[in-house]
Amino acid sequence: MDPKAPILVTGASGYVAGWIVKGLLEAGYTVHATVRDPNKVSSVGHLQKIAANSPGTLKLFKADLLNQCEFVDPMAGCELVIHTASPFIITGFVDAYEALVRPALEGTRNVLRTVEYTPSVKRVVLTSSVAATYGDAQDALNVPNGIFNESHWNTTSSVDHQPYLYSKTIAEREAWRLQAEQSEPNRWDLVCVNPALVVGPALTTNSISTSISTLQQFGDGTMRLGAPKMWNGLVDVRDVADAHIRAGFTPEANGRYILCGETLSLLQMGAALRKQFGSKYPFPSLPAPKLGFWAIAPLYGFTRDFVARNMNYKIGFDNSRSRRDLHIEYRDVRTAVCEHFQQLIDDGLVKKR
Ligand code: NAP
Repeated sequence: MDPKAPILVTGASGYVAGWIVKGLLEAGYTVHATVRDPNKVSSVGHLQKIAANSPGTLKLFKADLLNQCEFVDPMAGCELVIHTASPFIITGFVDAYEALVRPALEGTRNVLRTVEYTPSVKRVVLTSSVAATYGDAQDALNVPNGIFNESHWNTTSSVDHQPYLYSKTIAEREAWRLQAEQSEPNRWDLVCVNPALVVGPALTTNSISTSISTLQQFGDGTMRLGAPKMWNGLVDVRDVADAHIRAGFTPEANGRYILCGETLSLLQMGAALRKQFGSKYPFPSLPAPKLGFWAIAPLYGFTRDFVARNMNYKIGFDNSRSRRDLHIEYRDVRTAVCEHFQQLIDDGLVKKR
């Protein structure tokens, strides 16, 4: 890689991308950052401030995932493309295909087809997700010791059931297909990073990432009466950013990399928060019984099918490839959860008590 060549980061306004852009600017690179609205201060102001205090250079470009032409200019001259843009919402939409699947799939196609027409590009790093390795926690029954690794694929999600997970799965599959079918064989390679639920401080207050809303629920009383017995793989956002950058610059990096520091249940996350913040917030302390939660699930925005397939099944993730090839030494996820919650309080996104 030519250190002077610009690096394209799509979805630069996002929670995860903010830390990637920061890392690249601090290392002195020129970042071509795409956002849907480069004039929206709430979306890009934090990036401009970071750039002003870094040796690197930030250039903002407008690009919507649904418009292939818009990626041509920002990609010109880039050797490395880091494609993070994709909606990460699990509630609040009417049409799952339009809200999630179409932007994820068409966005990946549009970015990678532009790669085909941009001869300078040598590597694409795609932000996929552990969501592309499994669909429901119940799927853990089909893998050794309930531990998912990079050989696993999500085969149980659909546009009607777990559409976000489905969107990530078909977008990653499409990326591998386009990489394999490129017109000049092996001119560019693809490395996918597959993070678990990302936690830790955000550089922006503008993100609508489910990472933020998940943490908010620990402070707003949603789980006051009990938390369903569900487990999340968790990873610090700074480790996720480091992994993207190392995936971009480590010549031997290849294939998929699960990123997960540790898997915690909702109750374990609640316990970590209570240890740090005491009992002034309604952190969950009791497990919700499956049958009871199944009955009232629709009131909380979950389908009963989701509860049936996801409650009471422990899951785990094998992070050994990322430790071996990318040399990620994972930060403590309980600390990241607490830092993130403190930031939500400071930013007014969780009520101060
Ligand atoms: P985020 O803060 O909501 O970032 C998503 C980004 O996607 C935003 O910058 C948004 O840009 C962009 N985007 C959405 N729809 C777009 C469209 N139609 N055209 C152009 N840009 C669009 O969420 P995040 O948590 O950082 O997620 C970033 C990536 O990480 C996603 O690919 C997500 O699937 C993946 N991921 C996240 C987690 C996690 O726990 N957070 C875990 C695994 C994987 P605008 O500013 O223009 O709206």
